[in-house]
Amino acid sequence: MSSSLKERIRIADVFSKNNGEKVLIAGWIEAVRIIGGVIFIVLRDRSGKVQAVIKKNIDEKLFNEASELGSEDVVAIKGEVKEAKTSLGDREIVVEKLYTISRATKPVPIVPEDWEKTNINVRLDWRFLDLRATRNRLIFVVTDEAVNALREFYRSNGFIEVFTPKIVSEATEGGAEVFPVIYFDKPAFLAQSPQLYKQMMMAAGFERVFEVGPAYRAEKHHTNRHLTEYESVDIEMSFIDSHEDVMKMVENAVIYSIKKVNEKYGSYIKQYFPRIPEIPSNVPRITLREAHKLLENKGFKQPDPNDLDTEGERLLGEIMEKEYGSQLFFVTEYSWLYRPFYTMKKPEEPSLTRSFDLIYRGTEIVSGSQREHRADVLENQIKEKGLNVKNFEFFIKFFRYGMPPHGGAGLGLERLVQMMLGLKNIREVRLLPRDPERLSP
Ligand code: ATP
Ligand code: MG
Repeated sequence: MSSSLKERIRIADVFSKNNGEKVLIAGWIEAVRIIGGVIFIVLRDRSGKVQAVIKKNIDEKLFNEASELGSEDVVAIKGEVKEAKTSLGDREIVVEKLYTISRATKPVPIVPEDWEKTNINVRLDWRFLDLRATRNRLIFVVTDEAVNALREFYRSNGFIEVFTPKIVSEATEGGAEVFPVIYFDKPAFLAQSPQLYKQMMMAAGFERVFEVGPAYRAEKHHTNRHLTEYESVDIEMSFIDSHEDVMKMVENAVIYSIKKVNEKYGSYIKQYFPRIPEIPSNVPRITLREAHKLLENKGFKQPDPNDLDTEGERLLGEIMEKEYGSQLFFVTEYSWLYRPFYTMKKPEEPSLTRSFDLIYRGTEIVSGSQREHRADVLENQIKEKGLNVKNFEFFIKFFRYGMPPHGGAGLGLERLVQMMLGLKNIREVRLLPRDPERLSP
């Protein structure tokens, strides 16, 4: 190629060029249409799409060259910017030179922009093609913004980012929902959460830490909101009065994230997604007991008086949105029966806990609590949950040499983005989702 790709401009920038300016653009061909003696090429890069035009009566050799091209070929185009009325905007490119960089084997297995008509499994099999669709790539651009906003928020509030082990010796959230791994000659697991290590950092005197990292759940769920590998945004903070301090922190972080996404991408999101992330004006707090009452008043009785199931969460989301104008709210004081061993019980009512979930548009996106920081009480709680104290000795040690009152929370990044954009399936938010069936690519 006689021209350097360093001269290349982003396709989005073509639209601010003047009539007659020469540009070099490069990208993937979305479509080639031949209408009589004219070829129309739609060229796409990560910034946008533009139409390029070649007329046979002006340059027959170029016309013949272009007629060989097809969708998903990578080309560079040198040409002149011309004012025009096209469905892609008010500029087009009159092609002067065409450089074929990489041909796509035909037929291309999926048409990226036809994602809506394509089965999700086929899309995931061909994920790199699927992500060429503007809307599908936008999900990742939004995720990037959302997670960076969370990072920015926590860092500006005195949290530092830490990285804890993902190969661990014990289940942290209890239960059988762990993936065993073979670690030389020892049994080990993939971490369900960074919980115990975050708490170690409180013993170490860091006072405020956060982590963005993978969490693994061996849950045989076939739902639209569970993955076996997801990205968890965790925080832990010391010298709190109660779980309320953690709630306030998480609330502000989530609102900041929604706000940043809205500011930067709101207008694009509007074009492509069913919901745009609106900035919540109030974030109510209701106890689990109150949540049950609200549901009962509408004729929905929860099957388990100590729990809130998926359907209950969804209905509660509707009630809170319609009647309290809030898409984001906390449910607090969950039953000790369903919270992990490290949760602090409610002192006045020990069958309940100092815990909370944050529900966004009818789906849990965060769980958190104040943690039990008294070593002896903690040890009893481990026993109460039927866990083997021996396996947690390394953990209980953290509490025996000076431990401040502390609490924290874990947020599912894919869930947050799923709810921000109103997506049906969480798999769309994960680059290469893992679920009970899918392990490849
Ligand atoms: P759920 O009840 O929805 O299965 P959980 O209560 O078991 O979730 P937690 O241990 O509380 O999950 O995890 C904290 C957060 O991590 C959740 O609020 C959610 O946002 C996210 N999360 C948990 N499990 C998954 C999963 N399997 N896939 C995606 N995100 C998850
Ligand atoms: Mg939870």
